[in-house]
Amino acid sequence: MSDVVLLGAPGSGKGTQASRIASERRWVHLSTGDLFRMHLVNDTALGQLAKSYMDNGELVPDEITVDMVRDRLERVPTDARVIYDGFPRTVRQAEALDELLTDLGRSFARAVLLDVPRDELVRRMTKRATCMNCQTVYNLATNPPKREGVCDRCGGQVLQRSDESPQIIERRLDVYEKQTKPLIELYAKRGGLRRIDGTGDPLEVAKRMSEAFA
Ligand code: ADP
Ligand code: ZN
Repeated sequence: MSDVVLLGAPGSGKGTQASRIASERRWVHLSTGDLFRMHLVNDTALGQLAKSYMDNGELVPDEITVDMVRDRLERVPTDARVIYDGFPRTVRQAEALDELLTDLGRSFARAVLLDVPRDELVRRMTKRATCMNCQTVYNLATNPPKREGVCDRCGGQVLQRSDESPQIIERRLDVYEKQTKPLIELYAKRGGLRRIDGTGDPLEVAKRMSEAFA
C-alpha cells in the first residue's frame, strides 16, 4: 500500500492529527514515540534502552528505532495504508524506511508537513499532558480532561511527560532543527511534499489535513 509520512516538529500536533485521520480512514497509525512509551510503561529491554535518550530529549539511535519499526510493520497487512508519525526523524531513518517499504512490498505516497512556528511549539508543549494508557493528548490550558488527571476517553492517568520540562523542550526543538529538518528538503526534492499550516484550532488543522489527503 502507498504509505504517508507526517513530518513536523515536537508539539506540531502530529500525534493528534495522525490518530484522528487514521481512525477516520482506517489507516494504521505508526508512532515511534508511542511505541517507545509503550515499551517504557511495560519496562521492556527496549524501553530501558530508550529511556535515557527520551528523558534527555535526544533521539534514540537509528538502528534501535528502525528495528522497532520493522517489527511493527511486518505485522501490518500489505493492503492497509500506514501513516508514520515521528518517523523518519533522520536522513538515515528515511533511507531505512525506503528499504523497509521495498522489502515488505509497500510504497511511498507522499509526505505532509505540519508547519508551526517555534514560539507556538514551546507554548503548546509546556501545557501538554498525555494519557499514559491511550496516548490522547490534552492541553491543560485550552483542552484539559474533564476530571483532573483522568482521561476522558479511557479513564487512564493523564500526566505531563517527563520530557516536557522547559529545558528538555528546547533540547528537543534543537534536535529537530538539526536532525529532522533536513528531511523536509529531501522529501520536497522527491516531489509530493505538502505543507500544511498547523496553527489554530485542531479541527481547522484537521480540515486542512483532509484536503491534503483528498
Ligand atoms: P515529539 O514528537 O513531541 O518529540 P514523540 O512522542 O514523537 O514526541 O517522541 C518522544 C521521544 O521518543 C523523542 O524525543 C525521542 O527520544 C524518541 N523518538 C521518537 N521517535 C523517534 C525516532 N524516529 N528516532 C529516534 N528517537 C525517537
Ligand atoms: Zn486515555
